[in-house]
Amino acid sequence: MSYVGPEFEPADPSGSPRRRRFGGRPLTVAAAALVPACLAGWLIWDATADDGGKDSQGAPPASSSSASSDPDGKGETGPDKEKEKGKNDKGHGSSSKPSDPSAPSTSSKPSHSSRPAASGPLKGKVVVIDPGHNSGNFRHTTEINRPVDIGTNQKECDTTGTSTNNGYTEAQFTLDVSRRLRTLLEKEGATVKFTQDGDRPWGPCVDERAQIGNKAHADAVVSVHADGSAAGNRGFHVILPAKVQSGSADTSGIVAPSRELGERIAGKFLRVTGSAPSNYVGDGTGLDVRKDLGGLNLSTVPKVFIECGNMRDAKDSAQLTSGAWRQKAAQGISEGIVGFLRG
Ligand code: ZN
Repeated sequence: MSYVGPEFEPADPSGSPRRRRFGGRPLTVAAAALVPACLAGWLIWDATADDGGKDSQGAPPASSSSASSDPDGKGETGPDKEKEKGKNDKGHGSSSKPSDPSAPSTSSKPSHSSRPAASGPLKGKVVVIDPGHNSGNFRHTTEINRPVDIGTNQKECDTTGTSTNNGYTEAQFTLDVSRRLRTLLEKEGATVKFTQDGDRPWGPCVDERAQIGNKAHADAVVSVHADGSAAGNRGFHVILPAKVQSGSADTSGIVAPSRELGERIAGKFLRVTGSAPSNYVGDGTGLDVRKDLGGLNLSTVPKVFIECGNMRDAKDSAQLTSGAWRQKAAQGISEGIVGFLRG
């Protein structure tokens, strides 16, 4: 799917994460006019929302090749030398730069703990956030390579994830965005639980990640990732569960609500970050449906993955390594979840 319009650049150098939340309805219409008809479905979520209103501009298609990565598989892990690079280059892309006032606390908390919910519109709602991968997975290859049952087949317990070419790892990224997201959702009154919070040496396995959401009776679960595709492949996409009824997997009850959750997140993510939907997955919709991810197959509660951008593309990675941009990413995801939970 091609896009018209200028090359996308972050339109808000001030880095204000909230600036776009209260834009006007006319810009919503303008955005809808710029994007392909196939996007109209989830843009409706924005058109009917109270807030929102940022214009969007799509990036031109840089490549027709499909090099989609796999959040649960080996496809996004890249060459071993890159893994080592990411492993050893601990200083790059730190999420807690002093100059980044919006950076979240890095203090760890027990994985499954949740803080008392504040009052707010999401009071009583439970959101499980699944920060993809784990920074320790690089050092625990035996453990994470152990096969686990994902219903349709067996798959590795977990994967290392990808990294930028400069060694900022996906695991660092996912945990940072997830912590920012937790802060935002707790302000809305939600009870938030993590699958891991940098407080365990590796994993958890994808089946356990799903079980944590199930056991929490989560009203919504989002698994945060960034992709490891070819340079030139850009943009975000949200992965929705396919209908799977095989072995221990049965997603028949979550396909529809997960789609609504994913559409709302995609719409808000576009609006808040200004990032375009993927130009290499989902035919420009920013949505992809998969049946090969254990984290989705084994979920019994509404759940989606989001690939926030491509760490292997220079322009996308410039965003992904920016604390200000990650705050926007968290804001977009949060607004999507809030919209879904408030109905
Ligand atoms: Zn991933």
